[in-house]
Amino acid sequence: MPKHARKPNYRNIALAGVIVLLAILIIILLVSLGGKKEPVPSAGPSDSVSFSSVESVAPSESSEESVPEESSSVEESSSGSKPESSSSASGTGVPNGQYAAMPETPYNYDTTGKIVRNAFDENGEVDILFPIDSKYYITRNFKVARLEAVDGDYKMDYRAAPHCKEMLAAMRSELGSKIRAFSTYRSYSYQEGNFQRKVKKLMDKGYSKADAYNTAATIVAIPGTSEHQLGFAIDVYLDSLYNKYGELNEHFEETEEYRWLQEHAWEYGFILSYPKDKIKDTGIIYEPWHYRFVGVENAKTIRDSGKLLSQWLEDQNIVYVYNGD
Ligand SMILES: [Zn+2]
Repeated sequence: MPKHARKPNYRNIALAGVIVLLAILIIILLVSLGGKKEPVPSAGPSDSVSFSSVESVAPSESSEESVPEESSSVEESSSGSKPESSSSASGTGVPNGQYAAMPETPYNYDTTGKIVRNAFDENGEVDILFPIDSKYYITRNFKVARLEAVDGDYKMDYRAAPHCKEMLAAMRSELGSKIRAFSTYRSYSYQEGNFQRKVKKLMDKGYSKADAYNTAATIVAIPGTSEHQLGFAIDVYLDSLYNKYGELNEHFEETEEYRWLQEHAWEYGFILSYPKDKIKDTGIIYEPWHYRFVGVENAKTIRDSGKLLSQWLEDQNIVYVYNGD
């Protein structure tokens, strides 16, 4: 050991220790303060596509018919954001929840051996049984015959309107219900705007263009493929539920209004278009609020068959031809 080794300076060591301790305390304080400022994101499955939670994909998304999209003004979609359109849309480019072209041209349908019906009668009015599904769709040129108010500003085809009004009135008087129309007739351009907004929302969430298109198609009907465009469909819903979920939600099936509709909608000529057990067939999520007018004389038969309108027509060997004008 060196002779002149200096004695450790205990005072300096103690001072250094205090400084280190203080520094640690400050760091701890800063970290805990910083942590409090960060909102804790609730990591939920809310971004995943879920059929269990409504007419909408991502539960937090609004749905095909949800009010935000409904009530917002019609936005013409920019053609730039349009999914690739295939020139062979006719026949093969059938919208089916698959990545398909917008139906700009009428569909082709094999009429061999079928009972052929024209989509339009001699007055140019669309047949009340004309189906809208993955095979049948309408084009941009489609014109609804005549609209008539059913509930406030909500309008439907004049052939469906009186029955719809009666149905709503019956629910209100029998149940004391505040049921109202949330969506009825929609124009092609309105539907197009709705659809493009949904695609964009999904792309903003990181979906690829194709995935966004396909996913959007299960929630918002591709323009030309919504029964609302025919003027024969209505979404009935309750503000109380809407305020709770912020969208049209399948919890509607738990209401007495839904039970009433299950029992009585057919009496007014309406059938449920997108039942829970037919998601695979419709390609559309379960929509307990969406009803389609098929005429009082047909509704019971179709309902009792347990089939979708399009399946029922197929059973009858009926095919509709549509020239797109
Ligand atoms: Zn609907």
